Amino acid sequence: MSTETLTRRRRRAGEIIARLAETYPDVHCELDFEDSFQLLVATILSAQSTDRRVNLVTPQLFSRYPDAADLAGAEPGDLETIIHSVGFFRAKSETLRRLGTELTTRFGGAVPRTLEELVTLPGVGRKTANVVLGEAFGVPGITVDTHVLRLSARFGWTKSSNPLVVEKDLACLWPQETWTRSSQLVIWHGRRCCHARAPQCGGCPVGDLCPSRGAF
Ligand code: SF4
Repeated sequence: MSTETLTRRRRRAGEIIARLAETYPDVHCELDFEDSFQLLVATILSAQSTDRRVNLVTPQLFSRYPDAADLAGAEPGDLETIIHSVGFFRAKSETLRRLGTELTTRFGGAVPRTLEELVTLPGVGRKTANVVLGEAFGVPGITVDTHVLRLSARFGWTKSSNPLVVEKDLACLWPQETWTRSSQLVIWHGRRCCHARAPQCGGCPVGDLCPSRGAF
């Protein structure tokens, strides 16, 4: 990264994203949802869990508690039982009930559409806020999750492990209109090929563009 100019790094980032888009043409958010409320709740549940586990519990959850007011009035034991398998169920249950209350009292039951408002909600940091903005409202957002953190370092796109700094570094490399899709593509590549412990460099579609190829 140190000897590569910003212009070259931008060009290489564009080539990597284009290659990933060819590799994963059906890339999409892997959480199941029908509206911004469901996506917000599902994203909060996905912390320290997997999208697959979350997708197994959300049909029952949204059937029982279809909106913010219902969630605010949820009986804790019932909520904990439904979300038990995603892990950290007591803390997440409490967060969801507080989320329901905040959405109801401050936003009329609707999910706010700005990052500044979203991050004031219980359980919502920049990562979750950007997922909701990008996937539910079509507002470009960079999602810095564990995969984007790891791959950004391996690609030489950042020197930092601070999510906020990484987000800013990526914002300098990716055109704004591509932020949401580029995040998805990097996440998919991290899940399917560039694993944390054993990256599959031999069969990697962007190996020739990656300074970390074979370094493990
Ligand atoms: S070459 Fe290896 S380290 Fe680089 S993106 Fe591919 S799998 Fe990851």
